[in-house]
Amino acid sequence: MNSKSLKNCPREQVPETPYFALSAYIRTRFKKRVRKIPLDAGSSCPNRDGTLSHGGCVFCNPRGSGTGLLAHGINLAEQWSTWAELFRKKYKTELFWAYLQSFTNTYGSLSRLHNLLETLADLPGMVCLSLGTRPDCLDVDKIRMIAAHPAREKWLDVGLQSSNDATLQRINRGHDFTAFANAVKLAHDHGLKICAHVMHGLPGETNQDFFQTLTCINALPIAGIKLHNLYVARGSALEQWLDQGLYRPGTMDDYVQAAARGLALLRPDIVVHRMNADPQPGELLAPAWAGNKRAVLAAIVEHMAENRLRQGCHFVP
Ligand code: SF4
Repeated sequence: MNSKSLKNCPREQVPETPYFALSAYIRTRFKKRVRKIPLDAGSSCPNRDGTLSHGGCVFCNPRGSGTGLLAHGINLAEQWSTWAELFRKKYKTELFWAYLQSFTNTYGSLSRLHNLLETLADLPGMVCLSLGTRPDCLDVDKIRMIAAHPAREKWLDVGLQSSNDATLQRINRGHDFTAFANAVKLAHDHGLKICAHVMHGLPGETNQDFFQTLTCINALPIAGIKLHNLYVARGSALEQWLDQGLYRPGTMDDYVQAAARGLALLRPDIVVHRMNADPQPGELLAPAWAGNKRAVLAAIVEHMAENRLRQGCHFVP
């Protein structure tokens, strides 16, 4: 953590929105509303199918944070048209951002990825594409293939969670920080944008570990970030840790203060796609406050305003 006081940002430098929100990025980039559409491509994960492990990351639920819609017979085009119709009516928008969130979407063969990208290219109104993945499921052939997709922007949502290799081992990520850094550099060199996923409150970590991870993010060619407060999902390994008293969830106050201070450290050009976790209905076991996404978000913004913090005000180039 930078030694500057948290209260030393001059008042006149504190903007209305104290961080570079995705909505602001979209307004500048597209001049129109663009809504993200979550899609389930029926992907798998090497940390779930036995290639690396069967248990997955300790926080991962058995659905890989996805809806499982494809497995229920609802193909990508059907998922897309349902959401697009809803958003056209609700937000009066014709532009959409395809977001493949569940599991590891670049895992598997090159031909699988090719077919997936072809299907996505046919979705009407799609201007942006995000593929959720792991750093060890990206190679130069896959990155080139994604870079050639006709979407105006191609993003990779890459899980890191922590830059601390001991933590990555503890939470059973199955890769280290170097794998993440190498994947980010390779993807960036081919024109892809990276959105890094980082967690606060990981077992065995302190706030200093969280801030150190953000400092490592600053040093890489990363365009976006998702901050997550760790929560216990039903069916995850963390549920057993909780039951056995091996893990104790953090308080909302802890997260709010760490997220606000973390954003102050973050490079100001990094787009904040998300500032807190978003548990699916029925999966949240603890802490209860993680179910109130709006309250957490509002508390972070309020804390930043009260302490005259803005994204990047403590960033050290
Ligand atoms: S990499 Fe993602 S899908 Fe795979 S086990 Fe970890 S959280 Fe789950």
